[in-house]
Order: sequence, then structure tokens, then C-alpha cells
Amino acid sequence: MEDADLRIIVSQSPMRIAVLGAGAMGSLFGGRLHEGGADVVLLDVNQPHLDAINRDGLRLVTDGHDRHIRLPALRPEQAPTPPDLLMVFTKSFQTADALAAVQPRLMAHTYLLTLQNGLGNRERLASVVAEDHILIGMTDYPADYRRPGYVESHGDGVIRLRCADGIERPILDRITAAFSAAGMDCQIDLNVEAAIWQKVAFNTALNGICAVLGCTVGQIAAAPEGPTLARACVDEVLSTAGALGIPVDRAAAHAAVAHALATHGGHKPSMLQDLLAGRRTEVDAIHGEVIARARRLGLAAPVSETLYRLVRLAEMLPPRDRSSGQAR
Ligand code: NAD
Repeated sequence: MEDADLRIIVSQSPMRIAVLGAGAMGSLFGGRLHEGGADVVLLDVNQPHLDAINRDGLRLVTDGHDRHIRLPALRPEQAPTPPDLLMVFTKSFQTADALAAVQPRLMAHTYLLTLQNGLGNRERLASVVAEDHILIGMTDYPADYRRPGYVESHGDGVIRLRCADGIERPILDRITAAFSAAGMDCQIDLNVEAAIWQKVAFNTALNGICAVLGCTVGQIAAAPEGPTLARACVDEVLSTAGALGIPVDRAAAHAAVAHALATHGGHKPSMLQDLLAGRRTEVDAIHGEVIARARRLGLAAPVSETLYRLVRLAEMLPPRDRSSGQAR
């Protein structure tokens, strides 16, 4: 067989995708990519979730469309053939352990993609593969894990990504084609770091304030001081990004926060949900990474630091005290 024929067959075969961390987002993305024709395996350590998926299929409800998707769900160390793409969707603080379990299964051709929230995700992937096999990005598709085997999502979203080193490689076209076949909006964005930082600014403000107060997003607007604090936080985070030379869009970031305050009134951000459930939050990857970068630049980040300290303190308090308001 000629090399050209082989290339055609390889490019036409379904993309092999392993999703490392198949909770809310990993199940949504893995399930939809499977529906789009990709060869997907879910990898997770949540045994009841794995068992339910392998027994009944993954129950995925997107905008009222309720179905059970049949796809394999395994523990990371059982990952089968090395994938073309390993999509990492653990929480940021779970990434290192998860990668350690799959590292022996990765091959030279495997690319790693992170769409996780926060900062430092690229560096975590760089501990197991070379920079030229890392893709970074962000997404605002939402997802909620309801119970083992069952995940919900609603509304549209976008995925923005690029190769970590900025080089445009064929893998980008394969990934965007896989998402397109799944009916998901995926765009190659050479300026994706701006989108990542704008989302970090949004999360630092809204997740932080809601987590500390135990309030919904809409309740931030109950007094003028709430939106003022959120704007100060966004400005502070984006000043750090600006000092790093990242061309962020301040107006867009402020508009995103204002839109959330106006339209996501009853939403409890994930950081608050984690605190209420007694789980560890991603405050280190969100506020903590911003503070560390600001410090390295000699900048002050007092709003992020205050929110960081309060969330860390809240993580140490019993969940019942927080939900009853006694911790305030
Ligand atoms: P999640 O907690 O629902 O899912 C994480 C999954 O990782 C869990 O199923 C957990 O069992 C698994 N995991 C933990 N340790 C593991 C290990 N060692 N090996 C394999 N799997 C392991 O979290 P999520 O909401 O899906 O969020 C994942 C990431 O995506 C986070 O960084 C989050 O900030 C980001 N994100 C979430 C949303 C959302 O709407 N949920 C939107 C955008 C971005």
C-alpha cells in the first residue's frame, strides 16, 4: 500500500478519543463526540458512575433531549489502545493523579487537550508530554452531574482552542471536525489565552463572591457593592493578564459578568456547589494562580487574595455551618 493511501485511510478512520475525568463535562463531551462518530472511551475513578454507564449507557439530557448513549467507561489504568486525543476533564487538582495513571498508555502520536477552568492546566499536561503535543483552550458549555450514569446540559456554548505552542497542526482540523460532527461549536483561536483569562476573571469574581457569601449569582446585584466588587475583581485579574502581554478584551469581560448577573440569577456557581457539598474547590487554580502570577510581576491582587483566603477558610468549615449561614 502506498503511503498516500494509508494517510487517506488513517484520516478517514474515526478519531480515537479518551476522556480523562468523565464527570459533568467529560460525560457531556464524550457522549456528544461519540454521537458524532468518534471512537470514545470514558476514563474515571467514580466506580458507581462507571458501573451505571456500562450497565445502562450514559444518560445524557441536553435541552430536554433525553437518551442513553452506549460507550465504554473504564478506570484510567484500564485505558485501551492509545488514543489520538486525550481530553482532560478532571478538576484541576485531580489532573496530576489522573495523568499518572494513563501516562504508560500514551503513545508518541497522542495529543492532550485541556479545556479546564483556571490557570496552570497547560503546565500540568507538560509534566507528561512535550509542549508540541498539548492543546489548550476554554469552553462555556455548561454541564451538571446529577447522579451515577446521568449528566445534564442546557443551552449552547463554544469551544476555543489552539496548540499550546501556537503552531497550526492537522490535529486541530481533526478535532474541529469531530466537534462539528457532534453538533458542537469549536473554533481554532490563536488568541485563546485571552479567552482563558477572561473566563478566569469571570470565575474569580462570581465563583469567589458566591462561594464566600453562599449566594446565587443574581443575589450579587442585591446591593451596588456586589457588582462593584465583581468589577474590581475582573479589572484586577485582567491587569495581570495585560502585564503578561495577553490582549484581553475588558469590555467583553465586564459585559459577560453583567449578563450573568442579569440572566443567571438563580445559578449557584460550581465553587459554591463544591463548598455546600463539602468538596474541595478549584480556588487554587483560579484565584491562587492569578495571585501567584501577579506576585511574580510585582503586582498587587488584593481582591483576589481576600476572596482566596475566605474560600480556603470556608473549605475548612463543616458544610452544615456554611449552608445554615452560621459561618458568616
Ligand atoms: P466533575 O467533578 O463533574 O468531573 C471531574 C471528574 O474527574 C469526576 O467524575 C471525577 O471522578 C474524575 N476524577 C477525579 N480524579 C480522577 C482520576 N485520578 N482519574 C480519572 N478521573 C478522575 O467536574 P466538571 O464540572 O466536569 O469540571 C471539570 C473541569 O471542567 C473543571 O476544571 C471545571 O472547572 C471545568 N468546567 C466545568 C464546567 C461545568 O459547567 N461543569 C464548564 C466549563 C469548565
